[in-house]
Amino acid sequence: MSQTPEQKTAIVTGAARGIGLATTKQFLAEGRRVAMIDRDAEALMAEAGALENVLPVVCDVSQPEQVDAMIAEVAGAFGRIDALVNNAGVADFGPIEETSFERWRTVMATNLDGVFLCSQAAIPELRKTSGAIVNIASISGLRASTLRVAYGTSKAGVIQLTQQQAAELGEYGIRANCVAPGPVRTKLAMAVHSQEIIDAYHDAIPLNRYGSEDEIASVIVFLCSDKASYVTGQTIASDGGFQSTGVGLP
Ligand code: NAD
Repeated sequence: MSQTPEQKTAIVTGAARGIGLATTKQFLAEGRRVAMIDRDAEALMAEAGALENVLPVVCDVSQPEQVDAMIAEVAGAFGRIDALVNNAGVADFGPIEETSFERWRTVMATNLDGVFLCSQAAIPELRKTSGAIVNIASISGLRASTLRVAYGTSKAGVIQLTQQQAAELGEYGIRANCVAPGPVRTKLAMAVHSQEIIDAYHDAIPLNRYGSEDEIASVIVFLCSDKASYVTGQTIASDGGFQSTGVGLP
């Protein structure tokens, strides 16, 4: 991996596919080195093998020891961490009464614990660079709809966690922001979106369509950049206007 000490870096969790992979590619296009983090070793190595200036690290973000080792490995290899994108996430869909505690905990472990753990471990490095944190929530964290008790609650937690980070870490020059994507046709979404849900989203979204991975990634990369140097504690919905309407979902 070719690198210069002044070259900026980013960590992207959940980078083996979907929004995380698109974000990785946009960071690379603007000249950053990128640590690609994922627990799916096979998919991660396959994607990273086709890219330059990346450091793939297999890590489950819900496991504190793995997270600490991952941050140490990235800091050692890159010498600096300028941005952390907490994107790794899992979906869950079901009625409250049928959501077992085990399923609830599985969602919280990745979607909420993972954001807390990766951010906490990276803060000492981010303080050195006045770096940026971008956490990926969801429109499901902004507005309740049926069948999203665990997922929506975890994403609402991510929005509040982002505000806590912004309030507390601003004195070190660290900015923390959140992106709340609308529906994107990734593996995560298409595993739980029935045709009924797809049709309802098309009707409820003013732009009448799903977003693309790149449309979410470009907002993430903007929030990590110096162009957003006075933006912190914010949640930006990249959702085709869904959040601006009151139209509900099934
Ligand atoms: P995806 O399933 O395509 O990719 C998620 C990646 O995260 C996978 O590579 C997976 O292996 C990895 N991952 C999951 N749990 C992990 C863990 N514990 N440790 C390390 N890696 C882990 O999903 P996506 O649609 O690209 O989602 C990315 C983020 O965007 C998620 O946080 C998701 O909740 C959010 N989001 C997605 C949508 C959508 O419609 N796709 C909408 C709103 C929010």
